[in-house]
Amino acid sequence: MERYSKQRELILDVLKSRKDHPTAEMLYNDIAQKMPGIGIATVYRNLASLYKSGKIEKIETMQGDPDRFDGDLRPHIHLQCSKCNEIYDIFLDEEENKQLNDKLTELTKLINADFTSSKIILKGICKNCKNKN
Ligand SMILES: [Zn+2]
Ligand SMILES: [Zn+2]
Repeated sequence: MERYSKQRELILDVLKSRKDHPTAEMLYNDIAQKMPGIGIATVYRNLASLYKSGKIEKIETMQGDPDRFDGDLRPHIHLQCSKCNEIYDIFLDEEENKQLNDKLTELTKLINADFTSSKIILKGICKNCKNKN
């Protein structure tokens, strides 16, 4: 049990230190240097359990692409660039977050459902890719 929680803590630390929404494999490459001998299956298993317990966010991207992970739980939405696949954070202040949730609550009412939470991924062309043209 002791070993498992240590691994989980390290995985969480490494994820929180990265701002690039890594895949499990990208995280594994970092973690294997800090904890030699750890297997990729362990990384997958711990990420799943961290996500289940609400300690990290999972971003499901295009079909066939691996899930990306986020250690930042502040309210924000994501934009994934359709050219480079990079995921960018758009942070919302309290007022913007409230406006967004009010709007989503209103839209949810259109089908007589109750709004609980949202996970928004915008698609677009990031500023780096835009400047390449
Ligand atoms: Zn881009
Ligand atoms: Zn994010």
